[in-house]
Amino acid sequence: MKAFFAEEQKRHDPKAFLSSGAPQPNPEQPERVERLLAGAKSAGLMIERPREHGLGPVAAVHTPEYLAFLEHIFARWQRIEGASAEVIPNIHPLARTGSYPASAVGQAGYHMADTACPISAETWHSALWSAWSSVEAAEAVMAGAPAAYALCRPPGHHAFADVAGGFCFINNSAVAAQVLRKQAARVVILDVDLHHGNGTQGIFYTRSDVLTVSLHADPVRFYPFFWGHADERGEGPGLGYNFNLPLPRKSADAAFLEALEVAFQRIRAFSPDALVVALGLDAFEGDPFGGLSVTTPGFSRIGEAIAKLGLPTIIVQEGGYLCDALGDNLTAFLTGFAANSDS
Ligand SMILES: [Zn+2]
Repeated sequence: MKAFFAEEQKRHDPKAFLSSGAPQPNPEQPERVERLLAGAKSAGLMIERPREHGLGPVAAVHTPEYLAFLEHIFARWQRIEGASAEVIPNIHPLARTGSYPASAVGQAGYHMADTACPISAETWHSALWSAWSSVEAAEAVMAGAPAAYALCRPPGHHAFADVAGGFCFINNSAVAAQVLRKQAARVVILDVDLHHGNGTQGIFYTRSDVLTVSLHADPVRFYPFFWGHADERGEGPGLGYNFNLPLPRKSADAAFLEALEVAFQRIRAFSPDALVVALGLDAFEGDPFGGLSVTTPGFSRIGEAIAKLGLPTIIVQEGGYLCDALGDNLTAFLTGFAANSDS
């Protein structure tokens, strides 16, 4: 299986993070890349550098004003006397019914959902290369590869069409799905990250050509709190094309695999032509977020089960944070997947 990653993706190095209001080191560290690269290589993958793909594939799922914000906000922020080293919002619009603000501070509040996605000098380019890795993986599959892996970092599934959040800036899974739509009439995004893929849900919420399915820790007491509940099913033409499977905290392999079977029933009924797996590894029992209790062999079984869908598949890296088994968990997923596919 081909894998895609560019060194520029490591340059984004966020510092700020608040956990229950307390300042902590940001968990989305460049070191994650080293662990994930090692995990992909252990599974026998060959890492290739993606080509540049311009703004087109990214602009297909994000708004022009949001992309202009991401590209220029750091330089604008630096011109504010006494501003922080990283762009961090300190005000948010209520339900966004007002006007679009002209000021850098106002726009930070408008386009950033939380304090977990600080923007620094390298953020834009790292996020763009991360998206290009997912574009390249999608193009490899469109050219005939049965599957491809995009080592996307920074991750993407909390990014909406015009909002960053939860370590995410550009929604790489959504970008890949939209690229696949050039060939595939119906695409499914299956998100197995610990956290609900709220940005992905938001981007496709009114569409019936991209089915979004997410397994995650129940948001009733877990990030992203406001999305990920079972009654969020889509709107308008998209009604019935969003499927959330919230799991009780600390659910382990058996419960996760059982929910996956429920997801597969919905996916098979949709008859998709291609699959994007939003692969978070933070459902791991030893992940610092501690929300679910999937084991390393569990990731192998999840990979095996997903491969049995028999669909052309893009595997897009989402979460999974620094712990000893991070690389092993990726190896386990990819090895399990490869065992049941002809990739
Ligand atoms: Zn996550």
